[in-house]
Amino acid sequence: MQTICPKCGENTILTSNIEEQEIIVRGDPITVSVNTLRCENCGEEFYDFNEQDDPIALAYLEYRRKNSMMQPREIREIRSHYGLSQMELSRLLGWGGATISRYENGALQDLAHDKVLHLIRDPRNLLHLLNDNSTAIQGEKREKLARNLMDAIDDGQGEIKNCYEELLGSYTPDRFSGYKRLNIENIFNTILFYCIGEGVLKTKLNKLLFYADFLHFKDYSASITGARYVHLTYGPILDNYEFYLATMIHEDSSLMIEEKEFGNYLGEILVSKVSPDLRGFKSSELKVLASIKEYFDGYTASDISLKSHQEKGYKETDDLDFISYEYADSLEL
Ligand SMILES: [Zn+2]
Repeated sequence: MQTICPKCGENTILTSNIEEQEIIVRGDPITVSVNTLRCENCGEEFYDFNEQDDPIALAYLEYRRKNSMMQPREIREIRSHYGLSQMELSRLLGWGGATISRYENGALQDLAHDKVLHLIRDPRNLLHLLNDNSTAIQGEKREKLARNLMDAIDDGQGEIKNCYEELLGSYTPDRFSGYKRLNIENIFNTILFYCIGEGVLKTKLNKLLFYADFLHFKDYSASITGARYVHLTYGPILDNYEFYLATMIHEDSSLMIEEKEFGNYLGEILVSKVSPDLRGFKSSELKVLASIKEYFDGYTASDISLKSHQEKGYKETDDLDFISYEYADSLEL
């Protein structure tokens, strides 16, 4: 482009280039692409600040991404989510008054601060801080914040589930999900339904879930949970199964594990600690859930496992494949 060179002041041509540059951030070499301009008259090279942030800022962004640190934009989002000014949040965290402002404007936060920033995403932690610190925020503002935090804590469970649903269910409903969106509430309640009373072995639970979803698809052309099932060596498994169990056991405390001896090996039995909430299910879904429970009542974990290995959907897929619900037509029930 024909323009005035900021270095030599001549009306000349500046050619733009994209360059890779290595910048050391806290001892770690970070490569960033930067736009540079070169003057045809004086030969000087300089950064094209119209096109980008400066290379240091780019390197910081990349460094934070690599180390899972919070980005300035996220810090700003959290703060405004709580309705706090930069100064208020800094004081609440016991930091220097300008700290949050510096971070939001791109300064690289230290690691201890970064941990705290991650922690206060959970309203429970911010409420603790607020209760420990009687001076940072006072009066009406304090009461309002405390109220909002307590409301957020109450809504927390629901919000966590929504956020998992976005994360784990980002796929388009298709033949692998039984033409339904992932419904985590339904998954949790189906698991609770099958683990009432004596509980069931993990292996059996997985097969019950598979049969319930597939049978409902066979009869009504849609799955119950919108979940996908994966072909593993030991049978069809609910995708992200371990994650759902961990959430129910450790976060919700709705499920527990009991070890039980079977001959000479120990099996893990899952037992519901709360009753399933069945209000979210259609009557066809409840009917199928119950009929599967009844059908497999006398089956041991290995009986049902063996049976699932004979299903066409299992036999015709390979390890780690998703199993299409289209195979439900040939279900051996
Ligand atoms: Zn020049």
